[in-house]
Amino acid sequence: MAIDTDYTEINRRRRRDIAILASGSILLLLVLWVTGALGWIECLTAVLLIAGGAFAYNVGIVASARVHRPAIRTRSPRSSRANQHQAQQMIIAALQQPAMVIDAAGGLVVYNLSAAEIFNLPAGRAGLSAASLRHPELLTSVERVLSEGGSVTCELSAVRQPGQVWLAKVTELVSGDTVRAVLVVMTDQGPVRRAEKARADFLANASHELRTPLTSISGFLETMQGAAREDREAWPRFVDIMADQTAHMRDLISDLLSLSRIELSEHKAPTTEVDFANIVNEVIEAMMPVAEARGVALCVEGEAGPLPMVAVEGEVKQVVQNLLSNALKYSAEGSEIHLHFGGATSLDAAEDAASRTWSGASRAALLLARPTIGAQHSRAVWLRIRDHGPGIDEAFLPRLGERFFRVDASRGGPVEGTGLGLAIVKHIMAHHRGGLAVESIPDEGSLFSLWMPALVLE
Ligand code: ADP
Repeated sequence: MAIDTDYTEINRRRRRDIAILASGSILLLLVLWVTGALGWIECLTAVLLIAGGAFAYNVGIVASARVHRPAIRTRSPRSSRANQHQAQQMIIAALQQPAMVIDAAGGLVVYNLSAAEIFNLPAGRAGLSAASLRHPELLTSVERVLSEGGSVTCELSAVRQPGQVWLAKVTELVSGDTVRAVLVVMTDQGPVRRAEKARADFLANASHELRTPLTSISGFLETMQGAAREDREAWPRFVDIMADQTAHMRDLISDLLSLSRIELSEHKAPTTEVDFANIVNEVIEAMMPVAEARGVALCVEGEAGPLPMVAVEGEVKQVVQNLLSNALKYSAEGSEIHLHFGGATSLDAAEDAASRTWSGASRAALLLARPTIGAQHSRAVWLRIRDHGPGIDEAFLPRLGERFFRVDASRGGPVEGTGLGLAIVKHIMAHHRGGLAVESIPDEGSLFSLWMPALVLE
């Protein structure tokens, strides 16, 4: 392109110079003729010679331009193809997903590192054939798009590891009327499949959990209508069991609704300023009658406050309530529960305060705090609740917070609670970008600790 422009410009200048030279000479001859220095025959001859020379020069320039032009034309498409290839390489390399371009002859023109990794190709090697992908389904789709055009999406399994599923989109790259190459872009279906499986598992678990008390209630009703119809003395016992099962179903439904409400609002950052100290004190006050009824002492050591933070008040209350009610549930009569809470000058300091080591205890981090980039995290709050209950076996600690996971069920003991309390706590802490950990020594007790940024500006 640059060469083309140079020749045109040079020729234009040459023509201009010749025209000036010829007009100057003709003018000089006219002056000589007028002054009588030259006769008219000599002047006419000289003018004709000059005009002829200028004409011949111009013809020469046009001819030389014709000679150069084909050379310029043949170079231009090749350089533009090289530019196109370079642009393709840059775009494909910039893509995070595995991507590649395959030409009509079945050559792998360009592929990025992700594609090299999943198809086990040597990185950046030119001249490979598409056959080296060793995936017949993908090659069939490529051939189809090369011959018919358009785009095809195919599912590829076990590309790198067994069980992995990729979606490959093969799209035509057209030049003129023909498909010159195809673009293949792959998407990992793993996360989507895992989310689908988690949803299906959750539905199956929730239905199972609800069906168990329902089966029990309908069983007792059948007994009361049939075999025990006349056994009125046994009825109050049956009614008590049915009332328990009904309460369990109510708790389950309420926890499931809480969980779905929190999940729905999880992407919205909290916006209201609340007092953490006030929230903790309110929950302690509300639970005091339960503690007294169980004969458990609540020993509270908290900062006087206020401890302002941006949070969803109802959610933070639910966290404290769930942890405290678990501690109460697993505490024996006459034992103590220790609650410590306060503010800190940073999230790290809050984590340190919440997780002061309990010597000999096993610890599992259930959730890591996720400070928001650009937000003010100069202050943070923390809480730790320690009971003297049965404790939790080290092997089960990391599983706490999984929906419907109960240590009692794994131990084969009586199943109490919904198994959703800690899952709710974990979701709420994630919503507040906080951290959560558990420590325990079997037969000595459990300690749940949490910490979260006091101000989250988004
Ligand atoms: P649940 O409603 O069953 O209490 P959670 O999600 O709150 O559900 O707790 C899950 C399991 O973790 C419980 O079933 C129990 O086995 C165990 N767990 C929770 N808190 C404690 C605690 N303070 N002491 C001993 N075990 C606990």
